[in-house]
Formats: sequence, C-alpha cells, structure tokens
Amino acid sequence: MSSLLIPLTGLKGTSQETEFSVSGAFFREFGEGPVLDADVKVKAVLSREGADFALDLHYEGVLTLSCDRCLQEMSFPVSLTSRVLLSRDGREEESEDGREVIPLEAVAKEFDAAQLIYDDLSLCIPIRHTHPEGGCDPKVLTYLTDNPGDEQEPTDSPFSALGKLLS
Ligand SMILES: [Zn+2]
Repeated sequence: MSSLLIPLTGLKGTSQETEFSVSGAFFREFGEGPVLDADVKVKAVLSREGADFALDLHYEGVLTLSCDRCLQEMSFPVSLTSRVLLSRDGREEESEDGREVIPLEAVAKEFDAAQLIYDDLSLCIPIRHTHPEGGCDPKVLTYLTDNPGDEQEPTDSPFSALGKLLS
C-alpha cells in the first residue's frame, strides 16, 4: 500500500504545503471500487492549531467512473476541500466546529494521508452517478428503451429462474 506522507516536523512559518497526485493505481491498491481511473491533484496544507495540527486537503481533478445508466466510462470532476484536526494528545472526538479529529502518536514525525484521501474521494461520489442528460451511449439507451424492464430488478429473468433451480 503506497503512503502519502505529510511531514509534521520542521513546520516553518504558519503553514506548510505538500502536494500529491492521485491516479487510478492508487485506487486499485484499495481493491474493487467505483473508481476506474483518477487524475486528481491534492494540496495538503498543514498548520499549527494550539498543540495540534490543522490539516486542510484541497482536491482538484477528475475521477473516471462507470455510468449507472449506460455502463460506459464517464468523467466526474472533483473540486472539494476537507478539513481535519490531527490531535497530539490521542483524543478522537469531533472538534467544536465539526471537524473529524485523528489522533497522532506523540512521537509521529509524519502523517500518512492515504486512507483519508481515499475516503474523501470515495465519499464525494454520489450513489447514483450518470452522464448528464443526453450524454449516454445512444446504442445502450436504445437497448434500454426497447427493454424497459432491464433497469429495474427483473422478476422473471433467466437469472432468477436459475436461482430457483439452484435453491
Ligand atoms: Zn451514461
């Protein structure tokens, strides 16, 4: 599993930036998922907040997903910011302004943001994602129009008949 490390030591001035590029290979390391490919730039801005660190992650780029309507590839633009607090004292409860608090080991010299970045990008994908209206593969749409039952759960498909045979 690749790590995306943010150094916690040597923070000069008020904040420090680390940049990452997230590709399809990054998502494949996490196993099966809706993301077929990715080209997302992540800018991590670390700053001190009392004894803790505030970490703001800015995402900009494109995920490639499979369209739920026509099953062809679709581009899903991503532009979002997520903010967490890295706590030095091991506490985990949410901060007062609702940010997730991630406990650090007291001796930690760096923070691996891979899981956090994976979660942020996975959670921004809507459960149902499709091409914009008119953007789907016309061949597949023609098929769906001719077979309108195919989009719902089929009740008497060959597969359910097979299921009955096997049960
Ligand atoms: Zn589509």
